[in-house]
Amino acid sequence: MGTEPSGPLRLLRETHEERVLTALRTRGALTRAQLVEHTNLSRATLSSIVQTLLGRQALTETGEEASTGRGRGRPVSLLTLNPAGGLALGLDLGHRRIQVTIANVAHEAVASGEVACAERTPWPRRLRLALDLVDDLTTRYEISLTALAGVGVGIVGPVDEATGASNDRVALVRDTLRARFGVPVFVDNNTRLAALAEAVWGAGAGVSSALYLRLSYGVGGGLVLGGRLFAGAGGAAGELGHISVDRDGPACPCGGRGCLERYVSLTTLQEQCADILDARDATARDLLVDAGTRVGEVLAAACNTVNPEVVVIGGELAETGDHLFDPLRAAFHRYTHSQVRRTARLTRAALGHDAAARGGIALVLTTTPQEASRP
Ligand SMILES: [Zn+2]
Repeated sequence: MGTEPSGPLRLLRETHEERVLTALRTRGALTRAQLVEHTNLSRATLSSIVQTLLGRQALTETGEEASTGRGRGRPVSLLTLNPAGGLALGLDLGHRRIQVTIANVAHEAVASGEVACAERTPWPRRLRLALDLVDDLTTRYEISLTALAGVGVGIVGPVDEATGASNDRVALVRDTLRARFGVPVFVDNNTRLAALAEAVWGAGAGVSSALYLRLSYGVGGGLVLGGRLFAGAGGAAGELGHISVDRDGPACPCGGRGCLERYVSLTTLQEQCADILDARDATARDLLVDAGTRVGEVLAAACNTVNPEVVVIGGELAETGDHLFDPLRAAFHRYTHSQVRRTARLTRAALGHDAAARGGIALVLTTTPQEASRP
């Protein structure tokens, strides 16, 4: 007792500590039982590691949390990283809105704000608006960014690092923010970041695999596997809006033909019925049945490929509720493999305007410090 392990034993212990810290950094607050599950450590080892980390004030224990539902309502305590351990900054440079959210490493949002911007606002100007908003929030809430771990930024349009298709925009955003804050900066498409946020904080909180679909003026999506955003070879994984639903359909700017987006985007639907979102008249409801069916078919195919725990559907069109979801569920059930159907939960998105900014924060927290330090 009392002697610190040395040599291989000490290395092993550090690896175990790293596993616990990483689980809490990527998932937020967890019970000891959940930590056992996520780290694959034995109960005894975990208990010892947690004790050490608590002693070092790397962790914080929030006692007497309500029961997690299972068990007999015995209070369980939640462990998080020490909130004082650092901050992450999330930005969403959207079409019509700039959003900024700041959270600590314990996954608690400490400040959030937004400003409107015109649709064609140039990128340098968007960045200026975002930085002014950061200054405004840090001043108002007396937040020091000296312990900033990283910045995660959502931008509109594709972020394809491999082909360099959007590299000018990405480079401008990354270089400007890196110069301003001196920390790692991660940039991704804002719909994909909303997917990650839903899997970390929203409708899919706590799951390991989630498929996200956003039904708005465009149709996009994202895929979260093992608690992390899955990019794919070219950064385009989860582009559900560009799955073809009509081989003879119109050509799409993506290079495909008859893409789902062409049939179920709000832009297309409002051309046929201006009040589609009210779903009051028969025309609107018929259109929603057709849209829901098409979406359900595409989701069935995607889920047969990925077999996710949860499918999260967001965007304005999802706000039409059962008008969209009844036909969507019917088609989904008709075309999924029984094993896939049994395990997949279909649900509406839970987060609001700040989803992509929160996704930026999640991107910082789910990227390990070792990965972040790579050039
Ligand atoms: Zn397309």
